[in-house]
Amino acid sequence: MRRVVKFGGSSLASAEQFEKVGAIIRSDKERKFVVPSAPGKRYPEDTKVTDMLYACYALAEAGKDFSKEMKAIKARYQEIIDGLKLDLSLEDAFATVEKNFKEKAGKDYAASRGEYLNGIIMASYLKFEFIDAATVIFFDENGKFDADKTNEVLSARLEKCEAAVIPGFYGAYADGTVKTFSRGGSDITGSIVAKAAKADVYENWTDVSGFLVADPRVVKDPVAIETITYRELRELAYMGATVLHEDAIFPVRQEGIPINIRNTNAPEDNGTWIVESTCQKSKYVITGIAGKKGFCSINIEKEMMNSEIGFGRKVLQAFEDNGISFEHVPSGIDTMTVFVHQDEFMHKEQKVVGGLHRLTNPDVIDIESDLALIAVVGRGMKSARGTAGRIFSALAHANVNVKMIDQGSSELNIIIGVENDDFETAIRAIYDIFVVTRL
Ligand code: ASP
Repeated sequence: MRRVVKFGGSSLASAEQFEKVGAIIRSDKERKFVVPSAPGKRYPEDTKVTDMLYACYALAEAGKDFSKEMKAIKARYQEIIDGLKLDLSLEDAFATVEKNFKEKAGKDYAASRGEYLNGIIMASYLKFEFIDAATVIFFDENGKFDADKTNEVLSARLEKCEAAVIPGFYGAYADGTVKTFSRGGSDITGSIVAKAAKADVYENWTDVSGFLVADPRVVKDPVAIETITYRELRELAYMGATVLHEDAIFPVRQEGIPINIRNTNAPEDNGTWIVESTCQKSKYVITGIAGKKGFCSINIEKEMMNSEIGFGRKVLQAFEDNGISFEHVPSGIDTMTVFVHQDEFMHKEQKVVGGLHRLTNPDVIDIESDLALIAVVGRGMKSARGTAGRIFSALAHANVNVKMIDQGSSELNIIIGVENDDFETAIRAIYDIFVVTRL
């Protein structure tokens, strides 16, 4: 068994956190390849080292003095080195960074140093080999991640070593120029390394005990999901639930490697398993609830619409012509409703309405704003009777007016439209009936 372990910024924010990480890695010989993020926040008002680097580099790029900002970054690393009592100096590494900042090596280079320097500390602390990600993770000339070249070079490199630290978040173009993934991209590196190492598991260590059934900002202390499929995760992530960078799924999914989300501060918890498919039923029928506010519905009515071939296409054409993507399109006999993002739609509203008139000649167009969409997701819904009934009776009891219902044919999720103001109440009511009271 071989595990690739990625640790997020909050897991590596201080020497104390490093010690927890060290204990986790040492407790299992299978944890051979480690992907660290840059040091994150030590307390809520703290600044992530990545953000400090961006700010520092902005000064360097503008030709201003950045010595104070660089000193603060150095102090963050020194605090970790001292706390771990390591016999390690980053003097030379920092001298190079400063020189490259002065030579305007680029924003990506600057940001990547967060992971690079943390990787050096991690390798020294664990006594693992250090592999600079710029030598094993590649981007093509268009800035696209080069999966084939990376896999070839990285797997050959990993085969040669017992145990290694590969910093997250960045790689390089063929000429060696550093490029980063988008923010939170260490998750992607972890997934790429897991694939190249032919790992059995990709462990992603963070500061929550897995992917939670509902957003903790809405529901107090929600339980964690034990097992979730990639498809369910996609549905929840699309609706705003975040735990993992979206692009981190692809490399491991392709290889059938499961992801295990774990909590560095509670390593005894099993966390969440993200898998391709499973015969394990979720404990609560539903797997998770997520949602987003800020939608508009455009309701188009036309008598005998149902028998007009091409009506739906024409309606959607009016949105496409204005570059607006739609979220859901529930329809009735003589009505069709299109849900769109309010901020995208707002300033193009009259153009779309004009287009709809021209293309479809409707009887009525009615627009409603400030709506929220909630997705109740669960592979278990397929075989459980009465799920929709439970959801709607919970919402009725909570006095929430349901504006829209949409159940995909996959029976993987039910989407509910409510007013923005009812959003939190609705999520709590659904959580309550499935997870707390389980009525
Ligand atoms: N340090 C980077 C960021 O803050 C990448 C990561 O942590 O995954 O976005």
